[in-house]
Amino acid sequence: MPTDPEIRLALAATVQRLANWAGAAVPPSPATVVTIARKLEIAAHAEVERAVRRVREDGQGWPAIASLLGLDALPCHGGHPARLAFGYCTGLARRPETGRPRFLWDCCACGQTVAGHGPTSTPASSEQGHADGCQRLAANITEWQHAREGRR
Ligand SMILES: [Zn+2]
Repeated sequence: MPTDPEIRLALAATVQRLANWAGAAVPPSPATVVTIARKLEIAAHAEVERAVRRVREDGQGWPAIASLLGLDALPCHGGHPARLAFGYCTGLARRPETGRPRFLWDCCACGQTVAGHGPTSTPASSEQGHADGCQRLAANITEWQHAREGRR
């Protein structure tokens, strides 16, 4: 896995290359760097969203995704990393939407597209779209009930 300084170096090189392709001055102006870096940020978020969708489809929950995103190690948000992960994934730059935030993924157990509304309530209400009798939804409900009983 690359280190943070290696990632920053790769990003700086990518910004420089894109500025060169666009015919910007060398070195690019701060305004050009802001514009290009923001476009890269949006593209990176979209890639994260696609990858998280695959992780959800593979059966991982929001606590595991929080760990993958490094959100479980933030000292100021120690209590709800799963909610942070969901918020990160649903808060990506896109058109404004009305209604509850949602994250779409395809359930490999029932084959339906599920609109996930985050880890804040029961799977029955936070995962809408499973087919009737979906085994994965039933397993998620059982797991949620066991976790809830464990906290009492
Ligand atoms: Zn399902």
